[in-house]
Amino acid sequence: MLVVFFKKLLFLSVILFVGCSQAPITHRGQIIVTSSSKELALGKKMSNKILKRSKISKNQKAIKMVNEIGMRLVEVVNRDYNTTNYSWKFTVIENQWRANAFCLPGGGVFVYSGLFPYIDNKDELAVVLGHEIAHALARHKVERKAHLAISDFTTDIMKLLVFLDPSTIKGQKRRDQERVTKLIDEWITLPHSRTQEYEADHIGLVLCAKAGYNPKSALSFWSKFPKESAIKPEYSSTHPTPINRMKKIEKLMPSLMLLYK
Ligand SMILES: [Zn+2]
Repeated sequence: MLVVFFKKLLFLSVILFVGCSQAPITHRGQIIVTSSSKELALGKKMSNKILKRSKISKNQKAIKMVNEIGMRLVEVVNRDYNTTNYSWKFTVIENQWRANAFCLPGGGVFVYSGLFPYIDNKDELAVVLGHEIAHALARHKVERKAHLAISDFTTDIMKLLVFLDPSTIKGQKRRDQERVTKLIDEWITLPHSRTQEYEADHIGLVLCAKAGYNPKSALSFWSKFPKESAIKPEYSSTHPTPINRMKKIEKLMPSLMLLYK
């Protein structure tokens, strides 16, 4: 056990020593240890897997709309944030049950057909695509990898402290260790996911505004999801509630409107 612990400690030291960088636009400090080439290869591998197992949409209207808006956003990204090594590609997946989209490292953007009933105009679709593009631009997937290593190590230390405490009995120790894992999730892992989500909203809306899409559409888009916020309290979720997203977006609106042409 100690060998594993010291291996993790060594890995953590390397992460903290070499991995400091900054997210574009928000300038939030990040810890990333994965090289760009590894990140792009990972994205390609994941993309191939998804293409193999998914039903690709033949809805020409949806495909055209997603590509047209997506590529307009990509023009801004390539011009202002130098992602010419990315392979931006937009794919619509046939799945009416999923009102969602996602982006892989390196620029593979996937939109589920179930999202379209929630989209009333091009600006709202740009909000969704901008958000997904932002996740790739800010390298969130590989940042998360380093972050998980840190929270894993913190969990180990706290579990070790519980284990060393002679005042607690055996069954109690196991329950305490389970509580530690839950607390680390609520204090470190999940808040970090939500930070990335808020950041993707922010960066995505800057891209939308620069590409000529109205950032105010984010408010009309998220206002369609009030009930989802009641399913799970925010502290135990990887995603912010739509209401909290809207509050943060409203605060950004004056600066976003200055960029909107
Ligand atoms: Zn997201």
